[in-house]
Amino acid sequence: MNGKEVVERALSLGEAVHGSEKEKAILKLIEESLDREVKRVPVRTKVWEVKEFHVRVNGREVEASLLPYTQGYAEGVAGKDVVLLDMPSHPFEVKPLYEGLMNREGVKAALIYDSGKLRRIAVSVGKPSAFVRERVREGDKVDVEADAYLKDAESYNLEVTVQEGESYIVLGAHVDHWLSGYHDNLFSVEILLDLLDQLKRPNLKRGLKVVFFSSEEGPRCCTGSFQHPKEDTHVMISLDALFPSRVVFSATPDLWRYSELFSLKRVEMTTPFSDHFAFVTEGHPGVVLYNDDLIPYYHSDADLPNETDEAFKREMTASLLRFVKALESVSRVELDESFFRFAESRGVKLKERRGALVPYGLVTKFRGER
Ligand SMILES: [Zn+2]
Repeated sequence: MNGKEVVERALSLGEAVHGSEKEKAILKLIEESLDREVKRVPVRTKVWEVKEFHVRVNGREVEASLLPYTQGYAEGVAGKDVVLLDMPSHPFEVKPLYEGLMNREGVKAALIYDSGKLRRIAVSVGKPSAFVRERVREGDKVDVEADAYLKDAESYNLEVTVQEGESYIVLGAHVDHWLSGYHDNLFSVEILLDLLDQLKRPNLKRGLKVVFFSSEEGPRCCTGSFQHPKEDTHVMISLDALFPSRVVFSATPDLWRYSELFSLKRVEMTTPFSDHFAFVTEGHPGVVLYNDDLIPYYHSDADLPNETDEAFKREMTASLLRFVKALESVSRVELDESFFRFAESRGVKLKERRGALVPYGLVTKFRGER
C-alpha cells in the first residue's frame, strides 16, 4: 500500500477519536504499509465514548453531533431553556461561548447551526450540547440525550527512524481526528508516508525520525507528543491541518528564516496547539505548519479531499525535503543563539530554552515578556 491507499482506507474507517480502537487501526495500517522497522511508544491517554446520543425536535430525531465532552439529558423549548446559536466566526470562540451560556441560569442545552455541517469542537464537561444538521425553530420542543464519557485508555505513537544520528530532525503528524478529519489530519499522514517513500536512502548529515502521534485532540492538547521521548531532538516539525495551497509557519523565532521554503500565508510566533509544542516546552526548536483557510471545514464532516490536494501534497513534500536539507547543516548552537537574541529583542534575558515560551490564551510569549 502506498500513502494514498493507506489514507483512503483510514478515511473509510470514519471518525477516529483520541485513544480509540480506530486510532489504533490507523496506526496499524501505517505500520503494515511501511517496509521498515518501527517502534511503538506507549501512551497513556483517554478515549471519549459516546454510548447513546439523540437529538429530537418535536419528537422527530434529527442529525446532530455531540460537543465533546458534554453529556446528560435535557428537555426544553428552543429559544428558551434550549439556546439556539449560529456558528461563531472562529472555532476557538465556541468554547467561551458555551461556557458563558452554561453559567446562565435556566439554560439546559445549546444547539449550534452551521449551514448544515456537523462539527466537533471540544468544550468542557457540562450540559449536553450539539451541532444540528437542520435549523431548529424557536418554540420547537427539544430533547437531547447524551450518554458519553471519558475513559482511561492506552495507545501508542509510531516512530520510524529514517536515519540514525546524534540528534534528530523529527517530522510528526497526529492520526486521531474528529469526524471526517481529512485535512486534520490524514492529509499530513499521507505527506509523511510519501516522504518516507522518497527517503529510502537519505544520506543525511543528521538523524531523521518520522512520528505518527496518538491523541493530539482531546480534553488536553497533544497527550501523545507530551509523552514522547525528546532529549535527542534537533528540530521538531509538526504537520497539522494543512490545506491547499499555502501554510502558516507557526514557529519558534530561530526557524522563521526557513519559512521562505514554503508557499507562505504568514509567519507567526509558535502557537501552543500542536505536537511541536510539547518539544518547544522541553526547549527545542519547533514549528507547526497549518493553514487557517481550513476554518470553514475544521473539525467538521465536510473536511474531505478536494481536487487541489494532490498538487499541494507534491509541493509540500518537495518543500519539506528542502527544509530537512537546510536543517541538517545548521547547528543547534546557531539556532539557540538566534532564539536568545530574539528573546532579548523582546526585553527578556534567558538562561535556557526549556520552559521559556508559555501559552497565554491563543498565543505564546516569553516567560516574563510584557
Ligand atoms: Zn490537528
